[in-house]
Amino acid sequence: MLNIKIEKTTAPKRIPQKGEPLGFGKIFTDHMFMMNYTEGQGWHDARIVPYQNLSLDPSAMVFHYGQEMFEGMKAYKTDDGKTCLFRPDMNAKRTNGTNKRLCIPEVPEEDFVEAVKAIVKVDEAWIPTDPGTSLYIRPFIIATDAFLGVAPSKTYLFIIILSPSGAYYASGLAPVGIWIEDEFVRAVRGGMGFTKTGGNYACSLAAQVKAHDAGYSQVLWLDGVERKYIEEVGAMNIFFKIDGKVVTPMLNGSILPGVTRDSVINLCKSWGMEVEERKISVDELLEAQKAGKLEEIWGTGTAAVISPVGKLRYKDDVMLINGGEIGELSQKIYDTVTGIQLGKIADPFGWRVVID
Ligand SMILES: *Cc1c(COP(=O)(O)O)cnc(C)c1O
Repeated sequence: MLNIKIEKTTAPKRIPQKGEPLGFGKIFTDHMFMMNYTEGQGWHDARIVPYQNLSLDPSAMVFHYGQEMFEGMKAYKTDDGKTCLFRPDMNAKRTNGTNKRLCIPEVPEEDFVEAVKAIVKVDEAWIPTDPGTSLYIRPFIIATDAFLGVAPSKTYLFIIILSPSGAYYASGLAPVGIWIEDEFVRAVRGGMGFTKTGGNYACSLAAQVKAHDAGYSQVLWLDGVERKYIEEVGAMNIFFKIDGKVVTPMLNGSILPGVTRDSVINLCKSWGMEVEERKISVDELLEAQKAGKLEEIWGTGTAAVISPVGKLRYKDDVMLINGGEIGELSQKIYDTVTGIQLGKIADPFGWRVVID
């Protein structure tokens, strides 16, 4: 138990009303969760305070060597007015996987979930209810020692901020164009590709700009050694339906173990489909496409849940997937995951977590 102190704001902001466009990650709620870590003392002073600027020493380690981590999850209202999370234990576990790699002290899983529930409860009125909207939750940890030496920090701040976010798709699932990047790489085995940390995103920007300039919305990364095997998309894992089978790259240390990825694998298996987690080369995709066996492609991630891919570019090849339309399986997975999240259908896996 964290024994969280709560200080409510005396100047509440205006909560966006039904129908107002929210965008993503632009609006923040009235409060934030904070907790300090000090070597020898552990995590302490868990508190919820009014949303505010931070005051940090310019030499704080996070600014110089990037020792930081983050998570991404969502809260939403079910039709009967309950506030829910989706598999928060998975985010707690992944936090500590990331922390271990980056020499950030572990956060007890139950404390992580307790903190998320507490801050969401305080700003519950900010959870939007228009179709497809949700309250995006961003937990993060930064190294705060005022020191320019390269070493793990001895002090940290764990913060959770909340952002009401709009529907990812204004009207139905819109297939996106994906650029397979053949020059830059995101991660290598032994590096930090499996962690959620800012550095992975900093090194992704150059390829993202390149892809955007060429008219594609996201980058698909290849392995960092041979640039031959599929890894993942910008902030999503990737799935293929090839000749009736579901195929996705295996967790090899350089891709992010997505909560949505795990959910999709479990769902497809529960429907009796064959799911293969393995290496997939670009050549295999090109051949499957030529043979008419590359049936569907979709990305998975918390923000969009499912993002169908309509077009895939690799060097001089541009593949149109399923005629540029959303596939049947992609749609079924989207409907099922969001149905479970919103309490519209049964939750056989116990993924939905109600905040009382
Ligand atoms: C967060 C993230 C994902 C998706 O993970 P979810 O838990 O499904 O949201 C995939 N790839 C990267 C690089 C990510 O940062």
